[in-house]
Amino acid sequence: MTRIDDLPIRDELRGKSPYGAPQLDVPVRLNTNENPYPLPEALVARIAERVAEAARHLNRYPDRDAVELRTELAAYLTRTTGHEVTTGQVWAANGSNEVLQQLLQAFGGPGRTAIGFEPSYSMHALISRGTGTGWISGPRREDFRLDVEAAERAIAEHRPHVVFICSPNNPTGTAVDAETVLRLYEAAQAARPSLVVVDEAYGEFSHRPSLLPLIEGRPNLVVSRTMSKAFGAAGLRLGYLAADPAVVDAVQLVRLPYHLSAVTQATALAALEHTDTLLGYVEQLKAERDRLVTELRAMGCEVTDSDANFVQFGRFEDSAATWRAILAHGVLVRDNGVPGRLRVTAGTPQENDAFLDAVRAVLKLQF
Ligand code: PMP
Repeated sequence: MTRIDDLPIRDELRGKSPYGAPQLDVPVRLNTNENPYPLPEALVARIAERVAEAARHLNRYPDRDAVELRTELAAYLTRTTGHEVTTGQVWAANGSNEVLQQLLQAFGGPGRTAIGFEPSYSMHALISRGTGTGWISGPRREDFRLDVEAAERAIAEHRPHVVFICSPNNPTGTAVDAETVLRLYEAAQAARPSLVVVDEAYGEFSHRPSLLPLIEGRPNLVVSRTMSKAFGAAGLRLGYLAADPAVVDAVQLVRLPYHLSAVTQATALAALEHTDTLLGYVEQLKAERDRLVTELRAMGCEVTDSDANFVQFGRFEDSAATWRAILAHGVLVRDNGVPGRLRVTAGTPQENDAFLDAVRAVLKLQF
């Protein structure tokens, strides 16, 4: 059997594993930070209508610049952040992972480096590797908050071309304030003019306001967002960014022509028509997230404060064994490789009850 390493593959990909959260068929799946609520029927009907209309024109390529969609995304950002965002400041792609890949293709690449403060979203490192960008693992505090001084020192020392700030951070759930972003932006510009990417995939779930207004007057600052979490549309694959229009021009140098299908654009536009209903679910999930934090703490777990739709909890001597024990109760959570910790996504109240019961049972067995 031919193995990957038998192929004439790039050296930096030899012996590596792909991104792979387990997709197991268990009753309660709380492992990939998805939204547990299916799209409402009225929205499903609207998607069918919009997609039918798009289907009538599938003989043609889609709008290459996705202007209508970017206009609606800009309106959504303006409405929810209170900061006016224009169509020219917004770019969209197939999931925010593709947005991040396009940014690294344009601003990273061979001979360049990117830094993230780990543990953080593992795809930042993986997309860096995939684009030939050197990866620098920056520090984070023991309590999983960002260590601003240590981060500034790491930026000054390594002079990266791209700086990732994930807020709220996956998998820890911790968020940063505007002052922290400004300090790291200044440090990054002092080291060399570099691109600072604030990954706000979970922005809608935060107790804090969005960091998006910081893009004003800072052409090297980008905020990336997604419809996978707050909009409950992970299957849609739609991510976007807001930044100076020059950044939008830059990613167009590397994007594949017609990367965003007409079906995707039509579906995303339909979802944006139902923003208010979908944001109602976000409010329910925030309350459930806070309940998970409270109840896990009441059980004696160490729980990291969360601004996302998931909660990091521990501390377990053998987190892999605890992960398996929770799975044996029919509940799938995530082991992100953070020593002693696991991560659970906020689900429906019933799913969260099943999870809390499972943890209670497992803890009783352990102690
Ligand atoms: N950023 C972060 C921090 C994430 O956790 C995720 C999804 N797990 C993404 C980006 C990518 O999401 P998508 O490609 O679905 O937009």
